[in-house]
Amino acid sequence: MSDTPAPLTFADFKLNKQLLTAVAEAGFEQPTPVQEQTIPLLLAGHDVLGIAQTGTGKTAAFGLPLLMKIKFAQGIHPRALVMAPTRELAMQLETHLKRLAVYTDLRIFAIYGGLGPKTQIETLAQGVDILIATPGRLLELYLKGDLVLKELKTLVLDEADKMMDMGFMPQIRRILEVIPRKRQNVLFSATMPDKVATLSEEFLEFPVRVEVTPAATSAQNVSQALYEVPNLLTKINLLGYLVRDEQEFNRVMIFCRTKEHADNVSSFLIRKVSAETRVIHGNKGQNVRINAMEAFRNGELRFLVATDVAARGIDVPQVSHVINFDVPLIYDDYVHRIGRTGRAQHTGAAITFANEAEMHHMGRIEALINQTIPLLPLPEEVKVMPTKFDEQQGIDREIDERRKRLDPEFKGAFHEKKTPLQKGIDKRTGLPYVEGPNRSQKGKKKRASPGKMQSPAAKAAAKARGPQRRK
Ligand code: AMP
Repeated sequence: MSDTPAPLTFADFKLNKQLLTAVAEAGFEQPTPVQEQTIPLLLAGHDVLGIAQTGTGKTAAFGLPLLMKIKFAQGIHPRALVMAPTRELAMQLETHLKRLAVYTDLRIFAIYGGLGPKTQIETLAQGVDILIATPGRLLELYLKGDLVLKELKTLVLDEADKMMDMGFMPQIRRILEVIPRKRQNVLFSATMPDKVATLSEEFLEFPVRVEVTPAATSAQNVSQALYEVPNLLTKINLLGYLVRDEQEFNRVMIFCRTKEHADNVSSFLIRKVSAETRVIHGNKGQNVRINAMEAFRNGELRFLVATDVAARGIDVPQVSHVINFDVPLIYDDYVHRIGRTGRAQHTGAAITFANEAEMHHMGRIEALINQTIPLLPLPEEVKVMPTKFDEQQGIDREIDERRKRLDPEFKGAFHEKKTPLQKGIDKRTGLPYVEGPNRSQKGKKKRASPGKMQSPAAKAAAKARGPQRRK
């Protein structure tokens, strides 16, 4: 404990009125621990190395000092850059920062891959004060001359560990070479693997380290369980089996990765289990989502099926169970999801269904929360269905992609053979590539012979992975 009492309100940070009003309107009554520590350091001009996860309030921790510093719209070229590993995070950061900047005239804009750059280029040309970007798209637009980075005074790297995992180091190095040296730097990471430590040494100048207890500790009160389930249909069977106990599973939130899964799960529940079911996802309007939440909170519903995107930012009530019908690809979402159960006197339970590809992600999630989640056998009563061809292909592809990310030498046991010859810029690395049938044949791993339940590619991928299943 330090001698100086920590600030109790945002006003203690001496933020300007526009920001204080926005903070109040966002419903932030008190700074979170990461905000208490980070905001004064950044306002005083230090570089900060923050070890904090999503959910700790880290965006406002670096966002508020940034908005204080940039103050008002000026010129054309961005004066602050926030780099994020994924398009989802970039979009989320844009929304969050815009919310905090609502009473300023600051132009905040996110650029990311996955869609054509034309509109992004047009917006950049009109002038941006704070730019949020994924590394690939940033470099692409910079190299094309659509982006001028020489006015940058602040650089934030968010979720640096994820950036390293996704192989963005070369792009980040490249970007560091071309931006002004004199600037304030912030690096946030949920974990501190060696790669991030190296990056922070290259990138930060005499940083002050801020570390907060990970949100993952909230996972500690929740009893967690994991089932390995081969496919969608078997997941549906398992769901039906588990929720047959109405007393126990009385207010259940079910998370799905896609809208299609969410719709399938919800129609199954309505048909076979209970009409007290609603589904919320990105295609449903905000009002539909809020009404569904309201009904769920009032006890009118037994099941709420949701995608992460739909559930984000909405205050979800206490639930008896969280069922992860699919494993979230954004690992922090796991912590967010299960945080909805197990508070106060409630003994919550979080149950996750994972197919073969998703089991890999579970290993990473376990590392993140620093816990091993008990793997339960599928109950005998649950009928195991065969995996549909398309679904198996999707699983195989995901396993391949993940392996390639972990091991750049790995040439792919599955989908590269099926991709036609292509030339272009790799969106993820920003580097040119040539891909063709010959490339995968150079791969070290051989296909295994076809099996009964698994496709040949799945067997090959499994063989390539070796005996270690969850890593
Ligand atoms: P982050 O870790 O930045 O992704 O923030 C996680 C969530 O916490 C977001 O929904 C924020 O709106 C919310 N949040 C951030 N700071 C505070 C605060 N001081 N009080 C209450 N909620 C907050």
